Amino acid sequence: MTNPLLDTSSLPRFADIAPEHVVPAIRAVIERHRLRIDRLLDADREPDFDSIVLPLEEMEHELSRIWSPVSHLQGVLGSSEWREAFNQALPLLTEHGTELSQNLRLQQAYARVASRFDEATSPAQRSAVELALRDFHLAGVDLPDDNKARFKAVKRELAEIQARFEHNVQDASDAWQLGISDEGELEGLPAQAMARARSEAEARDRDAWLLTLDHPTYHAVMTHAENRTLRETMYHAWVTRASDEGPDPDFDNGDNIRRILALRKEAAELVGFGNYAEYSLATKMASTPAEVIRFLRELSAHSRPAAERELAELREFAGMTIEPWDAAFYLEKYKQARFSVSNQALRQYFPAHTVMKGLFDLAAKLYGVSFENEEGVDVWHEDVLYFSVKGDGGDAIGGFYADLYARSGKRTGAWIDDCVNRKCLNGHTTLPVGYLVCNFAPGDGRGVSLLGHDDVVTVFHEFGHMLHHLLTRIDYPSIAGINGVPWDAVELPSQFMENFAWNYEVLERCSSHAESGEPLPRSLFERLEDSRHAGAALAMLRQIEFALFDLRIHAEYDAETGLDVMRTLAEVRDEVSLLRHPGYNRLPHAFAHIFAGGYAAGYYSYKWAEVLAADAFEAFHEAGIFDRDTAARFRREILEIGGSRDFMEAYVAFRGRKPDIDALLRQSGIEPQ
Ligand SMILES: [Zn+2]
Repeated sequence: MTNPLLDTSSLPRFADIAPEHVVPAIRAVIERHRLRIDRLLDADREPDFDSIVLPLEEMEHELSRIWSPVSHLQGVLGSSEWREAFNQALPLLTEHGTELSQNLRLQQAYARVASRFDEATSPAQRSAVELALRDFHLAGVDLPDDNKARFKAVKRELAEIQARFEHNVQDASDAWQLGISDEGELEGLPAQAMARARSEAEARDRDAWLLTLDHPTYHAVMTHAENRTLRETMYHAWVTRASDEGPDPDFDNGDNIRRILALRKEAAELVGFGNYAEYSLATKMASTPAEVIRFLRELSAHSRPAAERELAELREFAGMTIEPWDAAFYLEKYKQARFSVSNQALRQYFPAHTVMKGLFDLAAKLYGVSFENEEGVDVWHEDVLYFSVKGDGGDAIGGFYADLYARSGKRTGAWIDDCVNRKCLNGHTTLPVGYLVCNFAPGDGRGVSLLGHDDVVTVFHEFGHMLHHLLTRIDYPSIAGINGVPWDAVELPSQFMENFAWNYEVLERCSSHAESGEPLPRSLFERLEDSRHAGAALAMLRQIEFALFDLRIHAEYDAETGLDVMRTLAEVRDEVSLLRHPGYNRLPHAFAHIFAGGYAAGYYSYKWAEVLAADAFEAFHEAGIFDRDTAARFRREILEIGGSRDFMEAYVAFRGRKPDIDALLRQSGIEPQ
C-alpha cells in the first residue's frame, strides 16, 4: 500500500500525506465500495443486519476516516494545492453519496432487514436502520420513476440556484467600498479594524482607508464608530446587499428567492410532505411547524417586556431614538459605562494553557475522564498537541488534536471535526478521535497566548462538541457521537458547556494572571457576570425574528400564489421586533444561512438547543454544579447515545420532564412570568 491516505491502521500519517494522494485514494476507495455493495446485493441470501448493515457501516466508517484528514488539512493549511485537491475530490464524494441514497436495491435490502426486527434487535440497531430508511425516503429513492426523475431535477436546480444566491451576496459585498481620507471620520474604530482598512486602501491604491463589506469590518463600524452618518451608510449598504435596493441589479436575489421557495415546496410535496418546513423537521427534534412557531412566540412574548426595558434604558443613555445603526454602538458604550469590564484587563488572566488545564480539570470532575498530552504523534504543525483521553479506571476512550492558534492560511473561526468515529463491529473496537480547532492570538515572546473571556467561552463550546464525539458508547458509526443526532439538538452539549465558562469556581481554575499568577479576582468576575445580560433580551428578539421569518416562509409558501417574502417579514417584524427597520431593508436577499446554507426551516435550532442547554445546566445548579450523579446521568442519557434514541425521550430520561424555557430566560436576565 503506497498511498498513505489509504492507511487507516492508526492515526493519519500527516507527515506523509500530500495533496496528490487525495484523488487517487478517494477514487480507489469509492470503486472498491461500489463493487462490494453490488456483490452484497447480488448475494443469494435473505438480507439481515449482519450481512447488509454491518458492511455498509464499515464502508461509511472507512470513507469518512480517509476523507477526514483531507477536509481537515484543506481548512487548517489553506494552501492552494490542498484546496485544489479537496475541490477535485469533493464532487466524487457527493456523487457517490447521491448514488448510495438513490440505490433502490439497497433501500429494499434495508427495508427487508427492518421487517425482520425482533426482540433480539437492540435499540441502536433499530435506530441505525430506521434513520437510514428515513434518509433513503427523503432522497426520493422510493418514488415512481417519473417523479423520481423530477425530484432529481428539482434538487439539481436547487443546488445551482442556491449557489448563485451565495455568489450574488459575495459579489455584491465585494463590489462595495467606501474610501475615507480623513482619519477623524473613523473615530472609535479599534486598531485592528483601522489596520485592515489601511491595508485594503494600500492594496487597491486608493484613499487612505478603505472600508469593505466583510463581516469583521461591518461589525467593527456598527459597534465602535462614533460617526453616526458612517454607521448609517454602512448599514444601508449591508441591508441592501444583493437586492433591488442595491446598486447593481445583476446581483439582485429577488428572483432566486422566489425560485428557491418554489422548488423546495415542490421537492417536499414529491416525497409526501405538505411543505418544506415539514420536510426539514423530519430530521429534527421538533415535530411540526406549529410546534416551532408556538415555541418561538412563547419565547418572544416572555422576552418582550425585558427588551422594551433594555431599549428604554439605551434610549435614555443615548439621549435619542435608537435606530438600527445605533443599537450595537450604544450597547457597547452602555456596557463600558455601566460595568467597566475591560477585555484587555480580563485577557491578562487567561493564558491558553491554563484555560485548557482548567477545562480538563472540569471534565475530570464531572465525568472522571483524564487527558494526557502525548508526544510523538504525527501532526500537521508544530503548535498542534495531541491528547489521549482515559476513563475512570484508566481505560482508553479516544483522543483529540488541539490546533488553537491563528496563522496565515488557516480558516478563521473555531470548530471541531471528527478524525475517527467510534465503531465496534464484529468484535473490533475503534476509538473516536477528533480535531479541536480555534484561532486564538498566537503566543507572545514567551510563547504565552492570552485569551479574552469570549475566547474562553468559545473553547468551552467546542470542547462540549468534542466530549459529545468522544464519550459516545454507540457501536455503529452512522449513529455514534454526533452522527444521527437531530440538527436542533447538536448544539446542546456545546452550549451546555458554555455555561461553565460563566461560573466563578470554574474560571478560578482556568485563570492565572500573566504577571502575578493570581487567579481571576471575584470582583472582576462579578462585573463580567453583570454585563452578560446587557442587551440579551433585544438579541433574543432579533434571533426570534430571523427564525420565525424562516419557518413561516417555508411553511406558508403557496405554489399557486407564490409568497411575498417582504410582506411576511413585515408581519414578523410587527409582531417581534422593537427596532423600526427602514423601508429599504432587504434582510432576505442576503440571508444565506437559509437560502444557500443548511438552515432552511431550521434557523430556530439555535434557540431550541439553547433552551435545552440552559434547562440541562439548571439541573446542575439544583444538584450542585459538580454533582457527579447529575453529570453521570447527563453523560449516560445525552452524551453517550449518539442517534440511537429519540432525543426528546432521552432528554426526559435525563431531566425527569420535558425542557422548559424558563432557564434560558433567567440566564438572559429575563424574569419568567
Ligand atoms: Zn457549535
